[in-house]
Amino acid sequence: MCLFCSSAATVRRKKEAYTQICSYFFTVSLKFKKSVEYFSKLQGIGPRQATRIVVALLSWPKTEVKQFSQNLMDLAEGISLCQDCFNLSEETKCQICSDPKREQAKICVVEKITDLGSIEKTGLYRGLYHILGGAIDPVEGLLPRSLRIKELLSRVENFKINNTNGSVNSPQAGQTKELEIILATNPNTQGETTALYLEEILKPMEIKTSRLAKGLSSGSYLEYVDSITLQNAFKNRR
Ligand SMILES: [Zn+2]
Repeated sequence: MCLFCSSAATVRRKKEAYTQICSYFFTVSLKFKKSVEYFSKLQGIGPRQATRIVVALLSWPKTEVKQFSQNLMDLAEGISLCQDCFNLSEETKCQICSDPKREQAKICVVEKITDLGSIEKTGLYRGLYHILGGAIDPVEGLLPRSLRIKELLSRVENFKINNTNGSVNSPQAGQTKELEIILATNPNTQGETTALYLEEILKPMEIKTSRLAKGLSSGSYLEYVDSITLQNAFKNRR
């Protein structure tokens, strides 16, 4: 179960909606009920949408449903998370972390994989990433220990160990020698809280941190911000 689904409030809300909407269908078939339960586990999909999805799948030709289920199996077995940044990957390290042309002394911290996708689309950023897996949100039970902050700190430590004189081992021409952590959490309460928390814990480590520039409207999500706004926020980070 993902970080979001595991919060008590979310589970309770889903359970209530589930009982109200789906009780009729569940009396029809246990297999139907099981499928709706699985789709309901997805973030942003409630029991009503899950029921619609399962009904739609039933209208597909059987061969297509079989191909779909095979694809899900391949997905589960063939894709995992990068051991360094937690991006999707078919190897132990993702394409970004394995690319020697990426700037190794820049780590952009984002909440979700979809945020990484939005930033990559701008084509402006050539450093590495770190995916936290969410943002601090005590109401939803998301505390700092629920996020991949420990893993971020160990990356910073490793960087320092490997570059005892403060510079990367074999820096390419034009690369920044000092490690920079770019805090690209969402410009909403949870994202701001997370960025402030990270700034505080990185301060004693004497690591340069920067935040995306304002211009992103407050309360928004990076995933839905247009490329131009995101490019400007990157250029003018502070
Ligand atoms: Zn990676």
